[in-house]
Amino acid sequence: MNPGGNLRPLRGVDRLADVLDRYRELASRVDAGVSHLVGAHRSRMKCAAGCAACCTRISVLPVEWYIVRAVIGADAMTDLNEKSNSPPRALVSHPPPNPCGFLRDGVCSIYRDRPLVCRVHGLPLRYRVVSYDETGVVSDDAFTTVWCDLNFTGQDPNRPTFTDGECFDMNALNTELDALNAAFLRTAAGHRFAGKHGVFLCDGSA
Ligand code: SF4
Repeated sequence: MNPGGNLRPLRGVDRLADVLDRYRELASRVDAGVSHLVGAHRSRMKCAAGCAACCTRISVLPVEWYIVRAVIGADAMTDLNEKSNSPPRALVSHPPPNPCGFLRDGVCSIYRDRPLVCRVHGLPLRYRVVSYDETGVVSDDAFTTVWCDLNFTGQDPNRPTFTDGECFDMNALNTELDALNAAFLRTAAGHRFAGKHGVFLCDGSA
């Protein structure tokens, strides 16, 4: 992903309220896609409360950090560089390194409003692989797939057997999120995040 690169402004998205509306609409589509894939992989998905293996050093774009903090009633600006979230109090199965600050006793404390990247946890995820050299992007037509070993045991890392339709398209999601973030950074609320490309969920550091 190339944050901010080659992005066109989203048409009709100029105000913070517009950004929030578009984010909610995107979240609905992500949830629908996730629901479809969870159904398709139902026999292999073991995700459940108590497993937090995915809840590790994840970062989100400023627009999602702002929205998550706003939804839970925190001031996204003043908390940006503070370690405001205590670590999980209880050990969970598969405890992650650098656990997310929103984990509480092994459970996501903001589950209903969790970032989009958290909604695809556990599924096979397809990413576009972008190669660069000194002249810029030289190739973006290769894809790679990642998946949770706890769900999809026995997959050969060198020859995964997932089809495109069995994977969540992270390239499409990240492209939309990049565009939304670019729109957010143009709003008054977004100006405070200028120059920040991501915020880590583990401690709120940018
Ligand atoms: S926000 Fe919730 S689901 Fe996402 S990494 Fe943190 S605890 Fe896990």
